[in-house]
Amino acid sequence: MLCDICLQTQNSVHRCRRCLLRAPFFDRAIGVYEYDGPAGAAIRSAKYRYQPESIEWLCRRIQSDLPSELFENRPDVIIPVPLHWRSRIKRRLDAPLWFGHTISATLQRPLDRGVVFRNRQTLVQAGLDDPERRRNVRGAFTVVREAPKDILLVDDVFTTGATVNAVCQVLKRHGADRVRVVCAAYVDPSVGVEMT
Ligand SMILES: [Zn+2]
Repeated sequence: MLCDICLQTQNSVHRCRRCLLRAPFFDRAIGVYEYDGPAGAAIRSAKYRYQPESIEWLCRRIQSDLPSELFENRPDVIIPVPLHWRSRIKRRLDAPLWFGHTISATLQRPLDRGVVFRNRQTLVQAGLDDPERRRNVRGAFTVVREAPKDILLVDDVFTTGATVNAVCQVLKRHGADRVRVVCAAYVDPSVGVEMT
């Protein structure tokens, strides 16, 4: 059974030890698929080998696999985790933005790219441990105007949640009441992410 908040594996309670000790800034994290499977392979092809058709395929699947709780309780806006402009040029493909557009159309809620920006490039999180990941993204995001109240933050992969947590921290500091996170794929952190 997974932790209600951060998707970490745990046993009988609804919160993992880490969320009990130090609650994250997001209110709930939803991973649509396990990273260890076709979804993870599609994301790797899209990000590291520029294969937009693999992300199109995954977007079509996500449309029908979003959990019902998002339809029952829709957010005000969808915000994709922003890439740095240099990464966007290098990869030519912004995976969180693709998923963001898909989820925005499916839930019929607007997508807003004008709230939060990544103000510096960060290392790829894969290969870093949890404290390194938190250090890597600390201070990396800036909110430039009053944040909407109820946000659905979208990212491609959820591992320890360090990236989305850093975004949520600044969104909440700028007026967001609730931030839920939806990621196309989640990784069991004890397994880790391979990079191929
Ligand atoms: Zn947790």
